[in-house]
Amino acid sequence: MRHPLALAWRRILDVALSTDPQRRVLMSMSLLALLIMASSAGVLLLLAEATETMNVTSVRWWAGLSVAGLLVLSLLVRFDQAARLGDPSLTVAQMVWAITSGAVAYVLAGEARGIVPSLLAMILFFGTFALTTAEVIGIGMYALAAFGCAIAVCARLNASTSGYIETAYALMVLIVLGGCIALNLRIHRIRLKLQRQREALADALAVNRELATRDDLTGLLNRRAMQDLITLEQRRALRTGRPLMLAQLDIDHFKPINDTHGHSTGDRALQAFASTVRACVRDTDVLARWGGEEFVLMLAETSPEDARDLLDRVRQEVAQLAIPHANGVLHLTVSAGLAQHRAEDSIDHTLERADQALYTAKALGRNRVVMAPPGKPGTGIGARA
Ligand code: GH3
Ligand code: MG
Ligand code: MG
Repeated sequence: MRHPLALAWRRILDVALSTDPQRRVLMSMSLLALLIMASSAGVLLLLAEATETMNVTSVRWWAGLSVAGLLVLSLLVRFDQAARLGDPSLTVAQMVWAITSGAVAYVLAGEARGIVPSLLAMILFFGTFALTTAEVIGIGMYALAAFGCAIAVCARLNASTSGYIETAYALMVLIVLGGCIALNLRIHRIRLKLQRQREALADALAVNRELATRDDLTGLLNRRAMQDLITLEQRRALRTGRPLMLAQLDIDHFKPINDTHGHSTGDRALQAFASTVRACVRDTDVLARWGGEEFVLMLAETSPEDARDLLDRVRQEVAQLAIPHANGVLHLTVSAGLAQHRAEDSIDHTLERADQALYTAKALGRNRVVMAPPGKPGTGIGARA
C-alpha cells in the first residue's frame, strides 16, 4: 500500500502533466522551461529592485510577459491544443519566445547583461531533445538576429560604456550561440544514428519473430505458433460456448512423390497444397504446417457439419490440383481427421482424436474425411470418400 502523500503527489502530477506518457514527457520539459524562465526573471527582478541601474517597471513587464508566454504555451501542450498547431511539443515556439525574452533581457539588464549568455545557452540546449537539423539552424539564425539587434541597441543606449566591455559581451553571446549550435547538431546526429539503429533492430526483431512463427517452405504458421493460437482459441471457445473444430490433414502417398520426382518437386507440391487449402478456407480459419506433409486446420466458431463440408471441399480441390513436373503433371489426394474440441477436454487430447480419425481415414483407403466420434478417442466412424 502506498503512502497517502505519495498517492496525492502522483495525483497532482497526473493533473499537471496528464496521464498520457508521451504528453507527460512534453509537459515535464515545458514546466522545466517555465521554471528556468521564472527563476531567471526573479533574479533580474531582484537585481533591478536592488541596484536601481535598470528600469524596474520595464523589467517587471518583461518578467510578467516572459513567464506568461511560456505558461500559455505549456497550457496548450497540456490540453492537447499544440498538436492542432502542427507541433505537439511547441518546442520551436517556446524557444523563439525564450530567445526573444533573452534578447530583451540583454537590453534591460544594463550593466548586468553579462548574465544573459548563460540563459541563452540553456534555452538552446532545449533544442537538443526535439528539433530537426533545419530547425536547429533556423533557431540559431533567429537567436543571432535577435541578439544582434539587442547588442546594437545596447551599443546605442550605452555609448558611455567602454567599447571593450560591449564587444566582449557581444563576443560571449556569439561564442555561446556558435558553441551551442555546434553541440546541438552533434547530439542531433547521434540521436538520428540511434534512431536508425533502433529501427533496424525493430525490423530485425520483426523478421526474427516471423521466422520463429512461420514455416519457410509454405509460409504457413509453424507448429509452435499454431499451438499458441489454438490455446488462445480454446479459451475463447470456453468463454463463448461456440464450437471449435480441429483437423489433422496428411497428404496421401507423399513419399513416392519425392522418390519418383525428386525432393524439389515434393517441395512444390507442398506449396501448392498449402495455397490450395488456404484458398478454400475463411480468413479466420487457420492452417499450419504441423510437420513434414502433415497439416493442422483450426476452424473456430464452426459447427461439426460445416467443418466436415468444408474439409470435403478442401479434399476435392486438392484432388483437382495439377502440379507440373519434368515429365508431366502430378496429382495429390489428402486424408483428414476431424475432431470437435470439448470444453472439458485438453487440446492435446482433441488433436489426438483428430489424429486417430486421420489414421482411420488412411486405413479406409485414403482421400477421405473422417470425423472423430465424441466418445472414446480413436474410434473414428463416418468416412466419406
Ligand atoms: P501416407 O499416405 O500413409 O501418408 O503415406 P506417405 O508416403 O505420405 O507418408 P510418409 O509419412 O511415409 O511420408 C512422408 C514423406 O514426406 C516423407 C518425407 O520425405 C516427406 N517430407 C517431409 N517433409 C518434407 C519436405 O519438407 N519436403 C519434401 N519434399 N518432402 C518432405
Ligand atoms: Mg502422407
Ligand atoms: Mg505423414
